[in-house]
Amino acid sequence: MVKAIDEIRNELGGSDDAVSTDDEDLKAHGFSEWSSVNVDVLPVAVAYPRSTDQVSTIARICHKYKVPVIPYSGGSSLEGHTAAPFGGVSVDFAFMDRVLEVREADMDVTVQPGITWSDLNLELEKRGTGYFFPIDPAPSAKIGGMVATNCSGTNAVRYGTMRDWVINMTVVLADGSIIKTRRRPRKCSAGYNLNGLLVGSEGTLGIVTEATLKLAAIPEHFSVAVVPFPSLKGAVSAAAAVIRKGVPVAALELMDEEQMRIVNEGGATRPRVWKETSTLFFKFSGTEGTVLDNIETVKALVKPFGPDAFEFARDKKEQESLWSARKESLYSLLALRKEGQILWNTDVAVPLGALARVIEESKSEAKSLGLSVCVKGHVGDGNFHENITYSPRDPIEAANTEKAVKNMVKRALEAEGTCTGEHGIGYGKKKALSAEVGDGTLLVMKMLKKTLDPHWILNPGKIFDP
Ligand SMILES: Cc1cc2nc3c(=O)[nH]c(=O)nc-3n(C[C@H](O)[C@H](O)[C@H](O)COP(=O)(O)OP(=O)(O)OC[C@H]3O[C@@H](n4cnc5c(N)ncnc54)[C@H](O)[C@@H]3O)c2cc1C
Repeated sequence: MVKAIDEIRNELGGSDDAVSTDDEDLKAHGFSEWSSVNVDVLPVAVAYPRSTDQVSTIARICHKYKVPVIPYSGGSSLEGHTAAPFGGVSVDFAFMDRVLEVREADMDVTVQPGITWSDLNLELEKRGTGYFFPIDPAPSAKIGGMVATNCSGTNAVRYGTMRDWVINMTVVLADGSIIKTRRRPRKCSAGYNLNGLLVGSEGTLGIVTEATLKLAAIPEHFSVAVVPFPSLKGAVSAAAAVIRKGVPVAALELMDEEQMRIVNEGGATRPRVWKETSTLFFKFSGTEGTVLDNIETVKALVKPFGPDAFEFARDKKEQESLWSARKESLYSLLALRKEGQILWNTDVAVPLGALARVIEESKSEAKSLGLSVCVKGHVGDGNFHENITYSPRDPIEAANTEKAVKNMVKRALEAEGTCTGEHGIGYGKKKALSAEVGDGTLLVMKMLKKTLDPHWILNPGKIFDP
């Protein structure tokens, strides 16, 4: 590893800006406060490339010395994705954060991997394009990591997941060679779908150095409704009723009573205080007429489930603060932890008909184990998150947390669901993936990995083991 680092430093210009071995830097890249899992080992260096050619140089050298390469974009992933269980070089795209080209007539944009989706949207707004990029995971998430996790977010019920928005990618392979997955039309049936293979591959098959993404038109009008229910089951059943009728809501989120308490306590929407009970958040978008129509339809559909109210954010500022309180609720949970506590934040997704039962059973098991648990989710897609705050030094609490998470995943799989709807497998969910897909499918994945990365240097220890 020492030889590889020296060679990378020389070829990238010899400065400390290009390769860092500073302890704080290694810790910032190998450990994550919000990740459900961490490992005891750190990367031995962090490289900061400035171009596709420099990424290729890093890969070529690491391939020669068989040194692990861990791509790192926003660092917001949640299952130990950016951990370095075998040491190696973390490759941070902080200096590859440019919008390379916006093509308004084609409704697409080419970017480097180190730009956040939120900065991309600011740039599109600044240029007055009338477009936006709709995939919205953590505000700090960057395109490289978003592609690699096939992330989604609150907008997925309307706009789909990352996979639906990638037109092509420039990718550096394990040996340093550079490929482009395809050209730039919106449709393409030419050959194997390498976008499909690489999106969601978590940095284990290739390193994304450029991506061309589709853009969406910004809707004319928005409205955000907050609808509290007397029970969790009522809220989830109401959400399913809205989806089954095909109402084109822009987002449909669930927050349980504990999450609502955290929104109130965080004060993002002060002086307004929300009822602390299971609550659905609806985002409506379109023309003023379609938004009003959709609101009326949704009101009628949720009525049989006995909502306590149907309130609206009063203005754009309240809409935005409510939505950011939802998006950043994980950070609020982190801020409210007691000394020594950590957070296990994990997701599953199930077919819509099983959602209410799987959420209720999972939450009540965690509660019966005495855990501090809250549930939120992109329920319009059958996807929910359980957040458990616990003390890892308390062996009983730690074991109970693991049991609750394991059983939630088991319940999701038994309902023909998945162990993760959006966060991915990373280091933490390898066993769950194996249970989900079975040996035959896992073997095909391993064969693909071996073909593209024979020395197993790209983000080793993630998704599955050799
Ligand atoms: C507050 C909060 C809210 C969140 N909300 C959501 C949500 O609503 N929906 C959702 O899906 N997720 C959510 N997440 C999880 C996270 O934001 C997503 O997984 C996101 O896609 C990660 O992007 P990143 O840039 O932070 O990636 P990183 O954490 O840097 O990396 C993630 C993975 O991608 C790989 N990688 C990074 N860059 C590249 C590259 N250039 N080429 C190849 N591989 C690469 C890494 O090796 C790693 O395996 C949330 C997280 C937080 C902390």
